[in-house]
Amino acid sequence: MSGHVPTVPAPDPLREPDLLAADPEGIVEVGRLVGELTSEAAKALRRRSGPLPPLTPLELAHVVDAQLPEGPLPADGGGREAVLALARTYASHTVDLADPRAAAHLQPPALGVATATDVLASAFNASVDTWDSGPVAVELESRLVRALTALAGYGPGADGVLTPGGTASNLQALLIARDTALRAQRDVRSAGLTGMATQPVLYCSELAHFSVARACSVLGLGEEAVRPVPADAHRRMTAEALEKALEARAGNELPIAVVATAGTTDYGSVDPLPELAATAHRHGARLHVDAAYGGGALFSDRLRPLLDGIEHADSLTIDLHKTAWQPAAASVLLVRDRADLTTSTGLRVAYLNPDDDGAAGYDGLLGHSLATTRRADALKVVATFLALGRRGVGRMLETCHDLALFAAERITAHPRLELVADPVLTTVVFRYVPAGGSPDPERADAVNGALRRRLLLQGRALIGRTDDLAGDEATGRVRLKLTLLNPRATRDDIQELLTAVEVAGRAVETEELP
Ligand SMILES: *Cc1c(COP(=O)(O)O)cnc(C)c1O
Repeated sequence: MSGHVPTVPAPDPLREPDLLAADPEGIVEVGRLVGELTSEAAKALRRRSGPLPPLTPLELAHVVDAQLPEGPLPADGGGREAVLALARTYASHTVDLADPRAAAHLQPPALGVATATDVLASAFNASVDTWDSGPVAVELESRLVRALTALAGYGPGADGVLTPGGTASNLQALLIARDTALRAQRDVRSAGLTGMATQPVLYCSELAHFSVARACSVLGLGEEAVRPVPADAHRRMTAEALEKALEARAGNELPIAVVATAGTTDYGSVDPLPELAATAHRHGARLHVDAAYGGGALFSDRLRPLLDGIEHADSLTIDLHKTAWQPAAASVLLVRDRADLTTSTGLRVAYLNPDDDGAAGYDGLLGHSLATTRRADALKVVATFLALGRRGVGRMLETCHDLALFAAERITAHPRLELVADPVLTTVVFRYVPAGGSPDPERADAVNGALRRRLLLQGRALIGRTDDLAGDEATGRVRLKLTLLNPRATRDDIQELLTAVEVAGRAVETEELP
């Protein structure tokens, strides 16, 4: 067409390898791009029908392959269009935790304020290992962990460090326990005493998180160093049961730690902390409290009493990426005595934190951590609390706790569902009862397992499952679980989830396992 001025394609900054995130032009470009990516995500989210895509794992793998015709490392880049297309596929098919029917794992929908500030953490790419690699990040993390120690009831000598997860926090806590015990043994030997116990063992509830055993394996103690203590009817490790296990140990076994759980992953049950602390300390063992899940109760005036006695712990794990609605990762390890934190990791490295720099105040957090490069994860956490306040975060947990109580009530009233344990935090463990009450435990397990997969495939309801260690001949072991971490979910959503379970259960019984 004559007179038509050909449009010059807009320059694509994403084709420029030197578009850097944190210069004044770059960060404006990042803002624009984040806006475009989130608009694409919003369009994709509006078209979704549930928390998961209604695809089999194989079908989903094909979707990803189709998105990457030349694989994830093509020789030449496709610029902005390639990135927007990836964002569309991602937002269309990944898990949507903001959907109120997502209730499977201790994986909350991330808060907007935390997510937005996390973009800044990425853009500036500061690291907290040395002062000069992230000066404000270092100060924020130090203040955050000290504020958390105060909430936990620790004194001014306490300290802590952010880690990539509860698994890592527990590992570091047990590293400290191991090295404290080794040092004490060296002291004993050098004092000429002999005949002491030398085989390290540690005690935790049979319902403790598997990361405790894995930590022992990593630390060279062997998983067999873990002595699981049977839980009581309320799914707690009592001081009596712990005492019994401690007394049953062999003469050469040295109890280095007791791990109490404040919020078991499945049941949310909280071990009796003051009694366990007294028992552990009487036997010369450290008390580590794994509050990866329950730690969020520190922010709630109403639920805080669940953690009474937590101040007796020598160390403490809290996952802020669980019950403080942070994007992963934001776990924290707190220690009552600051010196413990550097027992195992307090290293000076010439090119990072030489002594004279440290003495002059140029000190980072390298010596607190098993990691070297470490993100400014405190930024999103501090922003969250500045925006919502401690009580604002605590109320989110209270809302989810209320939902769990409501779900338990509805399950109890339901003829085809059976409540397995009263909720303590925000999980509800139950089972679907097959027609006729089914005294066949294997069939009951098969039906419960299959109905959850049926829900996964439909993509409209995402619930969890677990095994009940206290399962029996009549009811089997497989249990269903609602992990309620969406404070915007309503009672109607809970009702809808339970109805979906019942409908799927009936369908499995008639179509899959008649
Ligand atoms: C989730 C959880 C962990 C592991 O935490 P990650 O952040 O997933 O590594 C440890 N202990 C308990 C009790 C948990 O619930």
